[in-house]
Amino acid sequence: MPFKFKIIAFCVISLINTSVSAQQKSISITIDDVPNTSKYEKDNFSATLLNVLDSLKIPFTIFINESKITKNSFEAANKKLLKKWIENDQSIVGNHSYSHSRYSEVGFDNFINDIEQGEILTKKYASLYDKNHKYLRFPYNDLGQDSTQHLQIRTFLESRNYLIAPFTIESSDWMFNYVYEYYLNKKEYKKATAIGKQYVEKTIELVKFYEVLSESIYNRPINHIYLCHDNSINADYLTQIVEGFEKVNYKIVSFKESLKDPIYQQKDFYYQKWGISWLYRWMRSSKERYAWMGQAPDLSDIENTYNNILIN
Ligand SMILES: [Zn+2]
Repeated sequence: MPFKFKIIAFCVISLINTSVSAQQKSISITIDDVPNTSKYEKDNFSATLLNVLDSLKIPFTIFINESKITKNSFEAANKKLLKKWIENDQSIVGNHSYSHSRYSEVGFDNFINDIEQGEILTKKYASLYDKNHKYLRFPYNDLGQDSTQHLQIRTFLESRNYLIAPFTIESSDWMFNYVYEYYLNKKEYKKATAIGKQYVEKTIELVKFYEVLSESIYNRPINHIYLCHDNSINADYLTQIVEGFEKVNYKIVSFKESLKDPIYQQKDFYYQKWGISWLYRWMRSSKERYAWMGQAPDLSDIENTYNNILIN
């Protein structure tokens, strides 16, 4: 190659590398199982996690189970709190089905009824604040037991202009929360605090792991989507989680912003019912999938504590 072209080639490559390394890492926060009305009742009818998010002034997305409105006898207060989530400037709203049913178990007809029943109140409130309502997050991220079920629901969702809400990172916050609340109820506050701390540390460890995975596959940072729930541990520790994200140079962006990454246009090759990260679903072979899963940070500590509590 003539010297002149060598220099041009070198400059172009340097430019690509520089722009990749300088690319801002980003993550969006998505919250499932909103509204947690039994917690709100305990908290004197306040949505603690919403207050936390509001004070953090960060964008967030919620996935709603409307059946929770009638889980206790305070329907009017529950509706008011759901409306507060929806009217918040920073929120994007989505459907998580009415009753949180598992698609592979209840089957197509029951599941689409659950989707339709789950959008009534949300659509009404969303329209008051000029918000769209087009995302569906599957309960348990169960997209069906086989390729037939997967295809059937995808076709239905497309016909209704629904988009499937993906995620790339989750850290079993529901399991940490179960143990956390167990210790809080027993007034064992030191143990509860240790669980909260462990939750924050494991989440950041998982973020770093998924960063290595995406760098290895895509050669660049990708726009991550974090999945967690409307529960006590997030009400008390999401601030630390967000600080942890920022400490490892992530910017908190909106779900819509995350979805601009072309990786989200990729084909999903996973046809089972388990709620795994989309980073695994985009892998063509189960061999590659399991090889990566085997390297993920170990969660056996919290799993053992959780199982011991369940047994006793
Ligand atoms: Zn859920």
